[in-house]
Amino acid sequence: MANDLFGGLNVLMKGLSGFMPQDDPEVKVMNAQSDLSDLRKQETELYAEIGRQLLSKNSGQFPELETKLKLVQANLTEAQSKLEAAQAEKMQKEQAEQLTEEKCTCPECGYRNLENIKFCQECGAKLGASNCRQCGVALAPGTRFCGECGARQEA
Ligand SMILES: [Zn+2]
Ligand SMILES: [Zn+2]
Repeated sequence: MANDLFGGLNVLMKGLSGFMPQDDPEVKVMNAQSDLSDLRKQETELYAEIGRQLLSKNSGQFPELETKLKLVQANLTEAQSKLEAAQAEKMQKEQAEQLTEEKCTCPECGYRNLENIKFCQECGAKLGASNCRQCGVALAPGTRFCGECGARQEA
């Protein structure tokens, strides 16, 4: 993640330095530093790949490092599940907020009312789902006549 960020930054710096005179020593320093960090990144990636291939064929050669690696991988798994739990929590919160939004918005006039009130503060229409006062069937907010028994619903 951090590597991508710095990679992106280097590309940006290179793009900016393209507008500056290329024989300016400051630009030369900037370009050389950017090349160096690109190459170091490539070197690190190659070392990592060599390490992966070595370990897959022949583990146990670097017991200390391998123990550390296992610890990091365990932490990675934990961090991943924490992320998933947080994402699930975020989704639940958004759904709850949307539900509140629907409950508070008047089906008749669209006015956004305060929470936990029963009738629209703007037009007096009944808010929230309810049941038919005669037959008890569930009715959508703002229903005037029951679709089941035809009873008129008073606000
Ligand atoms: Zn209303
Ligand atoms: Zn009914």
